[in-house]
Order: sequence, then C-alpha cells, then structure tokens
Amino acid sequence: MENLIIIGSGPAGYTAAIYAARSGHGPLLFTGEEVGGQLMTTTEVDNFPGFPDGIMGPDLMVAMRKQAEKFGTKMIEKNVTAVDLKSKPMKVMVGDDVYETKAVIIACGASARRLGLENEKKLYGKGVSACATCDGFFFKGKKVIVAGGGDAAMEEATFLTKYASSVTIVNRTDVFRASEIMLAKAKAEPKISFIMSATVEDILGAEVGKVTGVKLKNTKTGEITELSIDGVFVAIGHVPNTKIFEGQLPLDKVGYIKAKNIVMTDLPGVFVAGDVADARYRQAASAAGTGCMAALEVERFLAETKG
Ligand code: NDP
Repeated sequence: MENLIIIGSGPAGYTAAIYAARSGHGPLLFTGEEVGGQLMTTTEVDNFPGFPDGIMGPDLMVAMRKQAEKFGTKMIEKNVTAVDLKSKPMKVMVGDDVYETKAVIIACGASARRLGLENEKKLYGKGVSACATCDGFFFKGKKVIVAGGGDAAMEEATFLTKYASSVTIVNRTDVFRASEIMLAKAKAEPKISFIMSATVEDILGAEVGKVTGVKLKNTKTGEITELSIDGVFVAIGHVPNTKIFEGQLPLDKVGYIKAKNIVMTDLPGVFVAGDVADARYRQAASAAGTGCMAALEVERFLAETKG
C-alpha cells in the first residue's frame, strides 16, 4: 500500500514528488510515456525562476527528477491505464498490475494539439512552437505566423508583437472562434495581419533545420501559396490527458478536471496539479506551484485520516 501515487512527470508531478518525498511520504510516481512532459520538447526556458541565463527544457526536467529521487521518490516509467478513485484504498492500474494507495495527485498534463504535419514534428523547437510565452523572445525582429482562430491564437499573436516584426494569424474558416474582446485587441495591433480560410499545408525548412516558410491552402479555392516566415506558433487548442478519469471526476467540456480551490477535487485524497486542471495559465512555474500545493494538501489529508 502506497501513501501517495503521483501520476505525471512534468513540473507539477516532480514538484509534488519533491515536497511529498521530503516530508517522508515516499511517493510512487508514474512518469507516463512522455517522461518529463511538455518541457522535453522545448528548447531554452528563460522564465523559470532561478535560471538568469535560461535553461534548456530537458535539462530542467532532468534536474527536477533528480531532486525528487534524492528525497526518495520511486519512479516507474509507465503509463497509468486505469484508476479506481472511489474505492478505499484507491487503485491505480498499469495493465494488469494494480497499485493501492491512500492518496493520489493527478499531474498528467495536457498536450498541445498539433497540426499533424511531418515537418511540424521535424521542426518542433526549431521555429515551430506551441507557446509564445516560452519561445516568443527568440523571434526578435522575425516574421511569424500563428495557426488558429481561438482566444489562445489571439493572445499568442498579441504577445508575439512584443518581439516579432510581423505576426500573421492563419484561421482555417472565415469566422473566428475567439471572443470579441480578444479579437478586437489583436485587430488593433498594427503588426498583426490575418489570412482567413486557410490551412497550413506544410512547413518549409526541414532540410536546413529551421523554419523558412509555410505552404498555405485556401480552403475555399484550393489554391496553394507560399509565405516566407521564420516561425510557426500552433495555437489550435490543448487536449488534457484525462481519458482515464472520465466518470470518476467532473471534467469540463474540453476535458480539463474541474478543481476546487485550485488543487482539491470532489473526492477525498485525490488532488490535481498543473495543466491537467488548468486551461488558463499553463506555465511551468504555475504547474510547479500547484504541485507544491497538492503535496501539502496530501500531507494534511494523511495526517487528518491518520494515513
Ligand atoms: P479553442 O478550441 O477555443 O480554439 C481552437 C482554434 O483552433 C479554433 O479557431 C479552431 O478552428 C482551430 N483549430 C483546431 N484544430 C485545427 C487544425 N487542425 N488546423 C487549424 N486550425 C485548427 O482553443 P483555444 O486554445 O484558443 O482556447 C481554449 C479555451 O481557453 C477557450 O475556452 C478560450 O476561451 C480559453 N482561453 C482564454 C484566454 C483568455 O481569456 N485570456 C486565452 C486563451 C484561451 P475552428 O474554429 O474552425 O474549429
């Protein structure tokens, strides 16, 4: 029987593990198959506190993992396939293996939805990004596009005007999904222009290892055009990794876990941290913060239930 199982190995899961392990609860952490989470696919992170010269995303995650292991976190590099959070003790399943636990922290994150292009994969972190806050700084004086037409696309584009010389929003239909207010803000930015009814058909530059342009397809006429640009920001939504929690915890319409007081859920002993319950901030620092909070709640819970 475990005191605590943590599901997820991003900044939220590792921070929760550091706190819980340090307070003597010897947590068991399932990393999932994408060990280290979204930061493993980013390059330089220069907004995580404590690194004035920046740090590479993968280096940050390896350091967090070491810190969690140093205090006694047990790691299993497997995907949790099912959970029973309503039984007592709770059960966490990996295939046929069943692990029993008194408390659970769900920190399995969200994945940025991708366009699904071969060259998007090849150029990820080399001009293709899904996070303007993380990577915008690297596009000083450069030309970028933002794919998407929701609030995130407007927000990303508006943020990018701080750095980029021009920002073109490419929306696949002739109507925006974004709210009036976010759209109005983007429209008011002189650096932002719009291409409507177009999809990104291909990203160019794989042979030189950096984005040099995009091929766009007009969805009405089928016409293909090329645009020379230096960066592609994909802002077409995120998919929270919550399939296994359906029916056990309340989810919002996109699938994010509905939390109470940031890290609490409707079920005693079940806590959430990071992007899995956060469609709004989605930052490494905020995920780490909620990981810490969730671990402190577990400590309280175990003390109160004499766990
Ligand atoms: P949304 O689901 O709202 O929008 C996704 C956008 O991406 C839509 O324009 C959609 O087009 C487009 N899209 C989806 N798939 C593809 C594809 N394969 N190719 C091209 N385009 C595609 O996601 P967001 O991330 O923008 O927002 C998520 C939630 O977070 C929303 O509730 C939003 O309001 C909220 N949010 C709020 C912010 C704020 O208030 N500051 C900031 C950011 C997000 P289509 O419309 O054709 O389906």
